Amino acid sequence: MLYRKMPKNGDKLSILGFGCMRLPVKKDGSIDEERATEQVRYAIDQGVNYIDTAWPYHMGESELFLGRALTDGYREKVKLATKLPSWLIESRKDMDKFLNAQLEKLKTDHIDYYLIHALVGDLWDNIEKLGVADFLDNAKVDGRIINAGFSFHGSVEDFKRIVDAYPWTFCQIQYNILDEKNQAGKKGLEYAASRGLGVVIMEPLRGGNLTKTVPQVVKYIWEEALIKRSPAEWALRWVWDHPEVTVVLSGMNEGEHIHENLKIAGEAYPNSLTEDELQLIKKVGQKYRELMKIGCTGCRYCMPCPSGVNIPLCFELYNNLYMSSNTGNVKFLYAEHLSGTLSVGETRYASQCTQCGQCLEKCPQHIDIPAMLELVVEKLEGPDLEKRVSMVKDMFKQI
Ligand code: SF4
Ligand code: SF4
Repeated sequence: MLYRKMPKNGDKLSILGFGCMRLPVKKDGSIDEERATEQVRYAIDQGVNYIDTAWPYHMGESELFLGRALTDGYREKVKLATKLPSWLIESRKDMDKFLNAQLEKLKTDHIDYYLIHALVGDLWDNIEKLGVADFLDNAKVDGRIINAGFSFHGSVEDFKRIVDAYPWTFCQIQYNILDEKNQAGKKGLEYAASRGLGVVIMEPLRGGNLTKTVPQVVKYIWEEALIKRSPAEWALRWVWDHPEVTVVLSGMNEGEHIHENLKIAGEAYPNSLTEDELQLIKKVGQKYRELMKIGCTGCRYCMPCPSGVNIPLCFELYNNLYMSSNTGNVKFLYAEHLSGTLSVGETRYASQCTQCGQCLEKCPQHIDIPAMLELVVEKLEGPDLEKRVSMVKDMFKQI
């Protein structure tokens, strides 16, 4: 296992972190506790020392599971990360209420890396007004948390604003070979590092889209490489090639993937890919973009939309529908991210487009945005949207 230093505190963290959002489950959907415990402990025995969970994962069961799995001396071997469910916070008091409940669920007296979960610009504005800085300062002083950070899904402008708004130790962003210019992206990664923040990466395989069903044309490109590696290995190595990256999270639930990830995490040094390899990965990225039905780069020049539509996210999910063939998962994500459950309550659906045309001139890719949004409505909304939204609400609120 290779380790990298958290810049502000010198913690030596394994470059591979264990994400506890996709633990192995039984037929009824509950966590397969025996297998999950075995996997988490095996990874720790092999050198993983960063474990990440959050309040809503596995309907609130992930934290409880970890509280049990990290007994027998395992808690002391790791840095534990969990997150404040920012979308559920209505008052300053709520922040302490959730943190105290999390300490109890995790059977620990401190959280090593505590994040404000899933921030976007408006969610940050809300939680900042409610006194999150005071909450974090106090929780650090009384020892309930050691390091403060945030995870992020919004625009790079909002990302920079949040980086500068508090003396964070670290942040967590989505980053992979297709998201260099999406969300915080490369600019955000470099900005955070320039401000001395450690950066934890989530979705290095874009939720499995880069590995589960690799299109034949993409396979042909990977085959051009002199050294043969799996798509997962290329994607992970590309992320680790960035010296600004501290830890890469992987939501592991199969023995084979754990072994493969551990092996790669023993070899992936920063700046270790050759120029030819980087070019090859770029070619794969370009091919994926060609395969995407809508050529949206996620630049967000079209935003904000006066009707509140989250245009780039609508297009990202629509493209994922064709890249992953996992319709159910993409439709669920659509309900999760656009229903307002994870923001300050405003919906951002494609069907809210009034065809005003304001966004058209702003798109450097010349996408006919209103027309494309109609396709999104057709594929990702429909009569079952309400049912999906209520499932999401159950999952994120009633825990
Ligand atoms: S055309 Fe639709 S998506 Fe574009 S700005 Fe107007 S309402 Fe928003
Ligand atoms: S301006 Fe165009 S390319 Fe950029 S996010 Fe909007 S739709 Fe996508």
